[in-house]
Amino acid sequence: ANVRAHVIGNVAVDETISVSTMPEAGASILGREETRDLGGKGANQAVVMGRTGLPTTLVSAVGEDFRAQTIRNQLALEPVDTKLITLAGRSSDFSIIFTTPDGENAIVTTTDSAGSLAPEEAVTALDGATAGDLVVLQGNLSEATTRALLQEARRRKLVTAFNPSPLRPYFGAFWQLVDIAFLNRGEAESLTGSSNGAATDWLLQAGVAHVVLTLGGDGALLASQGKPVSNIPAVSAKAIDTTGAGDTFMAVALASAALRGVELDRRAISHAAAASALTVSRRGTRSAFPTSEEMRSILAG
Ligand code: ATP
Repeated sequence: ANVRAHVIGNVAVDETISVSTMPEAGASILGREETRDLGGKGANQAVVMGRTGLPTTLVSAVGEDFRAQTIRNQLALEPVDTKLITLAGRSSDFSIIFTTPDGENAIVTTTDSAGSLAPEEAVTALDGATAGDLVVLQGNLSEATTRALLQEARRRKLVTAFNPSPLRPYFGAFWQLVDIAFLNRGEAESLTGSSNGAATDWLLQAGVAHVVLTLGGDGALLASQGKPVSNIPAVSAKAIDTTGAGDTFMAVALASAALRGVELDRRAISHAAAASALTVSRRGTRSAFPTSEEMRSILAG
């Protein structure tokens, strides 16, 4: 199958600063730059998918500033085709991540660029897509742009995968346009009031064909229309920094199935668990993801 993944979402520069304790309001404290890395959920998912060997295009908006150059340089190192749309007068998105020695994180993310990507521009990026291709979306685009992409994907018979993160109040109307949903415990609780089989049932009833609920170190549930729910264990790992675990998981699960020409199955979820165990065991975002070589051995398993 010549499936291509079209990831439309945000790209950001992640600045990780280590601090001895989280700053209090009004405080001025010292920190040390730990890493500067490519991040943003859209870029994360595209980079991981590209490293699996699945043909992948990332469509993202950037601003007119010094961060846009960092973003271009870092993406150029990855096996991903990029369509970066420059928005005049906007700033590129970035995250400031505080980490403490006990492993706690506090993250502030800007979405000036991602939130300003216009529906028409985003939809044009699907012009080369062919039936059966994957469209991979997260929660950082505007409501109108996300809806337009989901509708265009249906019209072109593309397979839509949606990760409702960060959560927005308007996601309820999207489920009937989503083929595959990935969510974590907190998202499941907020959307459905539960984080077990009741949450996956809720989404199947809303029209989603496959639902994946990730449960951190407790593994994941896969629920598909007309099949019993499967419980897939996590791969044990020493968790150092979980940034990007969920993105790794979604990207590898989708790519594993697409590369084999099958619908999402237990094997795809096991591959995702193995890949995200590597991501949680390392610091950083892009630099923590499995390499292309590691990915080959994971996908052979
Ligand atoms: P994040 O926001 O940190 O990127 P998430 O909240 O979206 O992650 P989680 O459910 O926490 O998603 O984690 C996704 C997957 O990563 C899990 O299903 C599991 O396979 C793997 N994972 C997460 N934490 C651990 C851990 N401590 N040990 C092993 N695997 C883990």
